[in-house]
Amino acid sequence: MDLGLNGKTALVTASSKGIGKAVAELLASEGCRVAICSRSKQNLENTAAEIRKRYESDVTWCVCDLNKLRDIENTFAVVKKQFGTIDILVNNCGGPIQGNFRELKDEDWQNAFEQILLSAVKFSNLIIPDMILKEWGRIINITSVSVTQPVDDLILSNSLRRGVIGFAKTISNEVAKYNITVNNIAPGYTLTNRLYDLAVHKGKTSGMSHEEILSDMAKNIPVNRLGRPEEVASLVVYLASNLAGYITGTTITVDGGRTQGY
Ligand code: NAD
Repeated sequence: MDLGLNGKTALVTASSKGIGKAVAELLASEGCRVAICSRSKQNLENTAAEIRKRYESDVTWCVCDLNKLRDIENTFAVVKKQFGTIDILVNNCGGPIQGNFRELKDEDWQNAFEQILLSAVKFSNLIIPDMILKEWGRIINITSVSVTQPVDDLILSNSLRRGVIGFAKTISNEVAKYNITVNNIAPGYTLTNRLYDLAVHKGKTSGMSHEEILSDMAKNIPVNRLGRPEEVASLVVYLASNLAGYITGTTITVDGGRTQGY
């Protein structure tokens, strides 16, 4: 199956680890030139070197704190200078902190808004004009199953990720005529550092070990296991491909059947 991704340029945000890294790797394996970003220069250098070595691909990186609009503008400029226009934008981000309504402060809401919603808006705003000129583009937002049903103790995700869905659906209508698609992926429990940390945090309050918490999570999933980052990445690659040109404005869960409801 020819996905038509060879030679395309992709920017994957928050991608030194976890789901973002898996996405960058899989796009590189399909022949994309890939730009990665996160806050740590050291992690970016390591991840870029690993992907280059494994796939002999063109990989660049830029330090970018998604909570800083100036970093986002700089990342866009650096990638454009090095690789030219960006064909595929994958808006991933760090997960927001846990906590219930009464525990969280105003700045927690502000940080989550900037990280989850504003970063996706800003990158899309910078990149869409070039996609329009090229009459081709793919924007894929990594959200969470919290967009389909609330997750306990994750009110920031439950609240703000729905904003990404609204944003994506709205712009998908505006840019569809230019052959640009905009979609969201909603991962369920996927075994990354983030999930491990969440399990450790839950373990502290419940008196259970993080291993027990992770095993309990898996028991509540119909396929009876946690997801792998590559399983989210493979959907990103498909949505980024030419084959998915008729899919836009939608949200697809990758959660082993965990979300109930139609
Ligand atoms: P992870 O913690 O393994 O990786 C997060 C990446 O984001 C890292 O590269 C980190 O450096 C980067 N990052 C964090 N804060 C950043 C910032 N301010 N600016 C730039 N980069 C930043 O997380 P993950 O499990 O891969 O999750 C990725 C996204 O998917 C998160 O938003 C998470 O909430 C969401 N998600 C994850 C799961 C899961 O089970 N793992 C489930 C649903 C949704």
